[in-house]
Amino acid sequence: MKWKGRQRSTNVDDRRGKSSGGKLAAGGGIIGLIFLAIQFFSGDGDVTDILNQIQTQSPATTEERALTPEELELGEFVEVVLKDTEDIWSNIFRENGSSYREPGMVLFTDAVNTACGGASAASGPFYCPGDEKIYMDLRFFEELRTRFGAQGGDFAIAYVIAHEVGHHVQHITGTAGEVRTQQQRMSQGQANELSVGLELQADFYAGVWAHHNREYLEEGDIEEALSAASAVGDDAIQKRTSGRVVPDSFTHGTSAQRMEWFKRGYRSGDIRQGNTFQ
Ligand SMILES: [Zn+2]
Repeated sequence: MKWKGRQRSTNVDDRRGKSSGGKLAAGGGIIGLIFLAIQFFSGDGDVTDILNQIQTQSPATTEERALTPEELELGEFVEVVLKDTEDIWSNIFRENGSSYREPGMVLFTDAVNTACGGASAASGPFYCPGDEKIYMDLRFFEELRTRFGAQGGDFAIAYVIAHEVGHHVQHITGTAGEVRTQQQRMSQGQANELSVGLELQADFYAGVWAHHNREYLEEGDIEEALSAASAVGDDAIQKRTSGRVVPDSFTHGTSAQRMEWFKRGYRSGDIRQGNTFQ
């Protein structure tokens, strides 16, 4: 993606290399709970035990250090992508007679406290509606490449940011709240299906963003996004972590579904085509 020299968002709070008091890895992000899934499916105990385990394993503090030039450059890239989502979603909201509220973003290392509780690198990037912020430990992308087989590249990161921004859009339009209300009256299986709908719609919105960002795309960018979307499919993650696939437990959608909805958004650029709940 062409990004050097472009405008940067002022909504990024870069806490990398700073000490953090965070503990406890919980909640869902771009991926299901990988580490929980590993232990849960291998029958190593119940979830409470595992959460406690993670809590004690997570470092409570990180030593302060200066960021490397590569880390600083990555931070600038993230700011450009976030700014780009701000511009594009502001336009879309305006065209629909509404106004967009920009989300915040926190870059952290190891652990962080959020309005949704503590989080660690193990939770993967995620959006917290309580403080309207996206949280990312950028080292996740290294893991996505080495452990989950994504091809990597800057546009993989851009896709994940755009997906989390998609969750913010669902929050401010009320979709996420509606889904949560409905889920309380449902069986776990039905509630999971609605979660999949939310996740696929966030992928669709990431595609819509890429559509409106076409002039800055480079050869191979869309493939990088699709490769990342594929790597974080529930079936791909379950296969890698437990060796078997349990469709009823899906909360994010299969690799094929995630790629398909990103593509639909990218092709149409039209938010009205994003009903993923049927
Ligand atoms: Zn998501």
